[in-house]
Amino acid sequence: MKIKKNSLKMLLLLIIAMFVIAIPGISNAAYPTYKQDWEWNYNGAAHYYVVSLTSKYQTAAKEAATNWYKTGYHTNPLYPMTKTSTQTESPIDLYKSNLGVNTYGRTEFYIKGGTKLDLGDNNYGPVKNWLYCKILINESLFDADFSASNTTIRKILIAHEMGHVFGLAHNTSSTSLVMYPYIELIKATQITKDDSAALVQKLKF
Ligand SMILES: [Zn+2]
Repeated sequence: MKIKKNSLKMLLLLIIAMFVIAIPGISNAAYPTYKQDWEWNYNGAAHYYVVSLTSKYQTAAKEAATNWYKTGYHTNPLYPMTKTSTQTESPIDLYKSNLGVNTYGRTEFYIKGGTKLDLGDNNYGPVKNWLYCKILINESLFDADFSASNTTIRKILIAHEMGHVFGLAHNTSSTSLVMYPYIELIKATQITKDDSAALVQKLKF
């Protein structure tokens, strides 16, 4: 079929317009904005990305992620909660980081462009309007204070930080809880029923 000169011009304009509209869309697709603590609709999947954890902490991250997905108490939309090799797929980036002599782990929230949210005194979550977050693990301090064979405490450390990502604040009511603020006092060996209930209540899915 032969296209008239005018139609060809229109087609060309249309193609250019499509490109102009499509280009800003690329970055939006790569980075969703989490208007609430977490929006569970990003590709229908939850992932984390490891930037710089050593292997035993990577194992702990995997165990923590799996435990949040399958608490054994309630179903939740943390699916599949696996490690991704594509950083832009993940709202959670895990880093080995020196946090000084008092802090084993920290969760930081960032907005588009890489600006860290200043949470003031509310540095425990829940946090709104974030784009991605960093879980920082002070491996050297943790290794100095806890036995290398204590795989459970490492898993709980990362599970605690992931809890902040999911919008959970500290809970000082019991040392049995993963969200108790002092890791050395936490007695939980896995996500507890109360931690799981808090997640379900938080997400209201
Ligand atoms: Zn905490």
